Amino acid sequence: VKISKSYKLASRDFHPDNTVIRIGDVSIGGDELVIMGGPCAVESPEQIDEIARLVKVSGAQVLRGGAFKPRTGPYSFQGVGVEGLVMMAEAGKKHGLLTITEVMTPEYVDVCAEYADILQVGTRNMQNFDLLRKLGTIQTPVLLKRGFSATYDEFLNAAEYILAGGNPNVMLCERGIRTFEPYTRNTLDLAAIPALQTLSHLPVISDPSHGTGRRELVEPMCKASVAAGANGLIVEMHTDPDNSMTGDGVQSLFPDQFAKLMLDLEQLAPLC
Ligand code: PEP
Ligand code: MN
Repeated sequence: VKISKSYKLASRDFHPDNTVIRIGDVSIGGDELVIMGGPCAVESPEQIDEIARLVKVSGAQVLRGGAFKPRTGPYSFQGVGVEGLVMMAEAGKKHGLLTITEVMTPEYVDVCAEYADILQVGTRNMQNFDLLRKLGTIQTPVLLKRGFSATYDEFLNAAEYILAGGNPNVMLCERGIRTFEPYTRNTLDLAAIPALQTLSHLPVISDPSHGTGRRELVEPMCKASVAAGANGLIVEMHTDPDNSMTGDGVQSLFPDQFAKLMLDLEQLAPLC
């Protein structure tokens, strides 16, 4: 099969060595696994503080949480906005965690970068080219999620926009693609992990939460992702998933499940 490669900076041909992104004392893309855990959405100062505490005691390095949520419907909870950035930054600082949050528009890139250590581009925005171009103008690390119907070539071209703008700190995230199977929310494409690492030098992070949409599948798919060579995982965890403000409670781990997962992962690979 001939695959056209229109990207260059993202390509392993251009850059044979793995890209390692260093943030504080965490290195992403080297021999150690980075684990990002937290709620789908930042809901309140108490919620994010308590989850940050649990993420930290479990041994993970990065707190995840959306202040701006890309919801399918306009009447759903849209996130608490800039206040959520402040709440998460405080929780991260207090508990000694790096933070990652989603940015949806070019206008909000600077404020999100002021408060968070890593910026997430969601699946729905993988080809928001104005957003990608703006992210190319800063140096803050970006976790770029694969569009739910994007090919590897389209995904790597999206990364190329950020790299071409001058920001080399890009990690790729496999978060599941849309297939004909309704039992799972998405189909986590495990082959994407080694395939992207062959095609590209960028770190690859797996998101089994959105990749399956079912809590009981998250742990096995985390382990499968690590076995497939993932450089890290991003996992939803909530103290009260049944009452979470987005529909993602059904895929969120309970804190004790998250802690157990961390212990199991330590047996598989060294953590950051
Ligand atoms: C999220 O991380 O909560 C999220 C909205 O992810 P995705 O863009 O992969 O759906
Ligand atoms: Mn979510």
